[in-house]
Amino acid sequence: MQAAQPVVEERLLARLERLDTTIARQAGAGREYDRPADILDAATESTERAVSFEMTCVLGHLRAHVNRARMRVKQGTYGLCDDCGRRIDQARLEAVPFAVLCVDCKRLREAEPAAWRRQ
Ligand SMILES: [Zn+2]
Repeated sequence: MQAAQPVVEERLLARLERLDTTIARQAGAGREYDRPADILDAATESTERAVSFEMTCVLGHLRAHVNRARMRVKQGTYGLCDDCGRRIDQARLEAVPFAVLCVDCKRLREAEPAAWRRQ
């Protein structure tokens, strides 16, 4: 059986809040490096900034996924595979609450990512 919607919504919201905290921390970390002391500091700083920027991008994507999942809860399509329409395994949803593909379809896409990208 599918988990009760309020439980799913709660879990997604909790995930979203954690993401927001992490994103805010990342954004703050970037601002600490305004005046590099020397050239080595500057190099370290630019590397750290790049990592931080990448993290923020990844988190932004995750945030979009979580929001999409919340939308699907509202539309009543949460937990259904985007590709084959079958119900996504509950264990998978526990691990990845914003999953939109069942394990089989996910594997298929990973096996042939280029083919999917062309569509
Ligand atoms: Zn599927």
